[in-house]
Amino acid sequence: MTETIIKINLSESPYDNDCIHNRWHPDIPMVATVKPGDDFIVECYDWTGGQIKDDDDAADVRDVDLSQVHFLSGPVGVEGAEPGDLLVVDILDIGAFPESEWGFNGFFSKKNGGGFLTDHFPEAQKSIWDINGMFTKSRHVPGVEYAGLIHPGLIGCLPSQEMLEEWNTREKALYDTEPDRVPALATLPYADTAHMGRMSKEDSATAAAEAARTVPPREHGGNCDIKDLSRGSKIYFPVYVEGGGLSVGDLHFSQGDGEITFCGAIEMAGWIHMRVNLIKGGMSKYAIKNPIFKPSPITPKYDDYLIFEGISVDEGGKQHYLDVHIAYRQACLNAIEYLHKFGYSKAQAYAILGTAPVQGHISGVVDIPNACATLWLPTDIFEFDVQPGADGPTKELDGSIDVPLAPDLE
Ligand code: ZN
Repeated sequence: MTETIIKINLSESPYDNDCIHNRWHPDIPMVATVKPGDDFIVECYDWTGGQIKDDDDAADVRDVDLSQVHFLSGPVGVEGAEPGDLLVVDILDIGAFPESEWGFNGFFSKKNGGGFLTDHFPEAQKSIWDINGMFTKSRHVPGVEYAGLIHPGLIGCLPSQEMLEEWNTREKALYDTEPDRVPALATLPYADTAHMGRMSKEDSATAAAEAARTVPPREHGGNCDIKDLSRGSKIYFPVYVEGGGLSVGDLHFSQGDGEITFCGAIEMAGWIHMRVNLIKGGMSKYAIKNPIFKPSPITPKYDDYLIFEGISVDEGGKQHYLDVHIAYRQACLNAIEYLHKFGYSKAQAYAILGTAPVQGHISGVVDIPNACATLWLPTDIFEFDVQPGADGPTKELDGSIDVPLAPDLE
């Protein structure tokens, strides 16, 4: 039987579990050691550590403490791993706990985190998704069901001290260009809510003040939120410290490209079964700076799409130069307006784009002045026909159900 090397208890705070940490720092002690070739299971909290509940009230999403995230399981040391190696991680399987077969998707308040379309959805909203084997449905978003492309949103190795300092320097420089911005330009170290795993109180006092937050993806992988890093994929991570220090969390049952809702995909607690191997000196052998990976041999078979185009002209009609962020935003907004014609609220349509196996493509970046991004919406996830036709939209939804909203407190 495969050994579970990190266990969690969903009714306990992640702060009481010393196999969990929520910052990146080279000195966070390993909580387990494995050998190359070993496979093992790691249990994970959802990324917020249980702050979001399975109910019909979005107040928890509005009031979430984002300085606490992400709660990661690890770090796991690998015997013989040294800086410059590649840590090869096979994701053998991922699942929800039998007592917790649900996940959540939400939009943060613009005053507390925001999101990709925060100017259009400034208040907190939440949808709950039930996990039925490999499929998911929501009582808040009728008319859709899809197969999960289940993956860890966040996985990577500990940074070296030198790399940590590089991250802090460059992110602080960006932050300082507009320190009062809401949402902020970057998330800087914040000791108050740091959980440094097994580090002693004395060591934590200094380390927590410089430990990197887990929000952005970085050279080590980290919070990449790549839906295709699903079970069955093989990832090659750069190693920066002795033992590697592999940590994982932020499991997603399903997610659209871009994780545009930010809170996030279909977020869940669960377990991940992995196998590790090493390629000695692999970073220089293959010129690896950021992780590379091979996708799973198993993916949901959605091969019919409605594809929405977007260009780098913003909602106010202003021309931008080859800006793919704006182009993708327009593609998403176009898809939301389209689905709204079928009776979905705009919030429901946004939730679908954040959670379904939607593909996002950078289609063109040379045709000045417009970048072109496309959003691929799988048509088979809908229980009714969403194709355009001569008779207009087959409005199937009566609008009586919506995604719960929690108005901002004054
Ligand atoms: Zn996530």
